[in-house]
Amino acid sequence: TLILGIETSCDETAAAVVENGTVIRSSAVASQIEVHRRFGGVVPEIASRHHVDQITVICEEALSKSGVAWEDLDGIAVTQGPGLIGALLVGVNAAKALAYAHQLPLIPVHHITGHIYANRIVRELHFPLIALVVSGGHTELVHMKEHGSYEVIGTTRDDAAGEAFDKVARTLGLPYPGGPEIDRLAKEGSPVIDFPRAWLEEGSLDFSFSGLKSAVINYVHNEQQRGHKLNHADIAASFQESVSEVLVKKTMMAAERVHAKQILVAGGVSANSKIRLEIEEAARTRSIPLTIPPLALCTDNAAMIAASGTIGFLKGTRADLSLNGRANLNIEDF
Ligand code: ATP
Ligand code: MG
Ligand code: FE
Repeated sequence: TLILGIETSCDETAAAVVENGTVIRSSAVASQIEVHRRFGGVVPEIASRHHVDQITVICEEALSKSGVAWEDLDGIAVTQGPGLIGALLVGVNAAKALAYAHQLPLIPVHHITGHIYANRIVRELHFPLIALVVSGGHTELVHMKEHGSYEVIGTTRDDAAGEAFDKVARTLGLPYPGGPEIDRLAKEGSPVIDFPRAWLEEGSLDFSFSGLKSAVINYVHNEQQRGHKLNHADIAASFQESVSEVLVKKTMMAAERVHAKQILVAGGVSANSKIRLEIEEAARTRSIPLTIPPLALCTDNAAMIAASGTIGFLKGTRADLSLNGRANLNIEDF
């Protein structure tokens, strides 16, 4: 099965051709990180405009690098949501036009299922499994009993993990996106500051990061008021340790609860070196196989959309030319 995937939900314009949901034939990504950096975050209108600029050349690049002809494709998979509506519409309309022009099936994909299916490019999935989804907009524990079935058993009650990384980074005066900056800085410090961990009620699989974020901001203000010199590296390391500890413990709790045969980590925050290290060790201790995608497949890309779209294609999921982008899309309805 050869699927062309298209992704434009946020600030990456991406297209990729994937074979059998597991082999990347080509993957093209145009990132807008540099464009948005001066604003300290993604500006939706600017994102849409850049997607319009890039989408045609990125799709052509993905196809030509794959060595696959249009008539050999089995379908076109596109991120329908969730994401920025203006950004989503660019990908959805490109996919519709290409599907119509080449008479190919159109397969709508939920962006987060894409992040999850990035793992299948690394290793075949074994069910039941638990996926820890940690990205810019999501922090979720997803229970999968089979391909294409998603049950959310834990979610954040306020900020997403990536959001917390980005906001704390901003407090420390680091550029956008903050996650990689905190990761880098934390390596030069030690987790000596005792920031809170939000465990919530006994046995809860939900998350909360706003209290931690406020604790970091308060700490910085208090230290500044006392005239102390801030140790940014120690703050980064302590914050990261708090996030990592909660994510890892709750993921293990979820895995044990559903007798998971596999644990997946998905989304941009899974690029974090501390979280990768800690979750690998925790899974090894419990003898549960763990998969984390390589860095390029953790952040937004289209290979993951093609990989998830392959499952949709095989299940018979199809959209017609009335397909619309959806800023809010529920993974459990998918
Ligand atoms: P969503 O997938 O929820 O719609 P998104 O697509 O914007 O949101 P991703 O692209 O998956 O999110 O991830 C981006 C997030 O990952 C940003 O918040 C960024 O700071 C974070 N991130 C990237 N690398 C790292 C890292 N090494 N450590 C921590 N966070 C990181
Ligand atoms: Mg992004
Ligand atoms: Fe994403």
